[in-house]
Amino acid sequence: MSLNRRQFIGLGAVAAAGAVLAPALKLIDLVQARSPDEAVTALKRWGLLIDTVKCVDCDVCVTACHEENGVTGHGRPATDAQWIRKVGLRDKRTGHVQTLPLMCQHCEEPPCVDVCPTGASFKRADGIVLVDKHTCIGCRYCMMACPYKARSFIHEVVTDQKPDVPRGKGTVESCTLCVHRVDRGEIPACVEACTKDGGQAMLFGDLNDRGSAIYQRLRAEPSSQIRPDLALNTGVRYQGL
Ligand code: SF4
Ligand code: SF4
Repeated sequence: MSLNRRQFIGLGAVAAAGAVLAPALKLIDLVQARSPDEAVTALKRWGLLIDTVKCVDCDVCVTACHEENGVTGHGRPATDAQWIRKVGLRDKRTGHVQTLPLMCQHCEEPPCVDVCPTGASFKRADGIVLVDKHTCIGCRYCMMACPYKARSFIHEVVTDQKPDVPRGKGTVESCTLCVHRVDRGEIPACVEACTKDGGQAMLFGDLNDRGSAIYQRLRAEPSSQIRPDLALNTGVRYQGL
């Protein structure tokens, strides 16, 4: 049975009430992905859960993402493409600084899709939000509409493209949840790197699967969306904020 919007939002309230205790999660439980021979279906909704308490002061997720997707910079931080970035949050009262990775939040109600005049921005049945490079005209409406500053415009001719990740000058792009890996039955590169070399802060899986580690964790523990007031029902959730 799939998890509808109301049920998914309701998980937070259940967890906050401390109604259910999670079983202990082993590292192996973090690895859950689509079987390569399964069709893309709305029965699944892929998502990420990021524990900001475990997110250490490293950037292995950023490095892994950009290596996996062939995203190389030109030494111009203001305009270089950024599919994922580390954001620092400082508590003004205590001075405590917390860092967390921020990427496309794979919104259930994506404003980027709403404003796109060509249909290039679209949401797959399984909740992954993508851009079709062949129909994107580079108008950048989606960049203005995205409240998470998750999209980048490609200003330069792209070289050294990865075969699975088409990119092109004059188009817009953002985190794909490593859709090419998900379709091969693998987890996103950032999650793999964080699990192996980082703080083991990221959990990937099917938000609709009651047996998945991510579903169980969301059910058992408090979590939040960034900017929940926007009611976008993001596929990326955070703990410890
Ligand atoms: Fe679109 Fe931004 Fe939401 Fe990603 S985070 S789905 S780019 S509005
Ligand atoms: Fe759509 Fe491309 Fe314009 Fe974004 S830049 S709104 S994806 S056509």
